[in-house]
Amino acid sequence: MSNNQIHYNDAPIEQREVKAWFHGERFLGFDEHGARMITSNIRPCKIDECSNDVSDWIYCDQCEEQKAIQKYLNAEKRDVYPNDVIYSEKTDHFFYPEQFSELTSENRETLESLRLYICKPCFPGEIDIDEHLTDVLAEDSYADEVLSNECMDLVEKLNAALRKNKPISYFPSNIAVNLDPLLIGEIPCDK
Ligand SMILES: [Zn+2]
Repeated sequence: MSNNQIHYNDAPIEQREVKAWFHGERFLGFDEHGARMITSNIRPCKIDECSNDVSDWIYCDQCEEQKAIQKYLNAEKRDVYPNDVIYSEKTDHFFYPEQFSELTSENRETLESLRLYICKPCFPGEIDIDEHLTDVLAEDSYADEVLSNECMDLVEKLNAALRKNKPISYFPSNIAVNLDPLLIGEIPCDK
């Protein structure tokens, strides 16, 4: 037997007693925090200085809002381009290009409070015909070997059309809107 082989009878093990967390007879594991999380539905907000309790989330509404404001203030900012879609994190509202004029009439404080982010466009994905047929293709065979030329041509035409399609949805990016150009027409308030 070589040096790195260990016989069952010589296994390097020892018996120890361990403490674990239970709810009645239900074993909850060795971690107290995990056991408390499983068996409770109200817990303290994760921000140490905060005395609020939360039920669904890690942070209470006020702390969540503070974190969102801080993230917005620290975010990279850029100007809005004509085809951009803008998302207000505060109101959960998307602004489409034709609605940009609604924003330019607001003052800086109001605009900042909306926490405006530039959106990323999402384009329709192309069809991978081999992937589409994966459950029915014989092993080691490919769609272009078993489908008619007509089918393959139509797939190629569909993919070409999908590539040219306009975005089908938008998701907020981490880049916020540079508000300065939106405020050029700002109406000075009476003071
Ligand atoms: Zn809190």
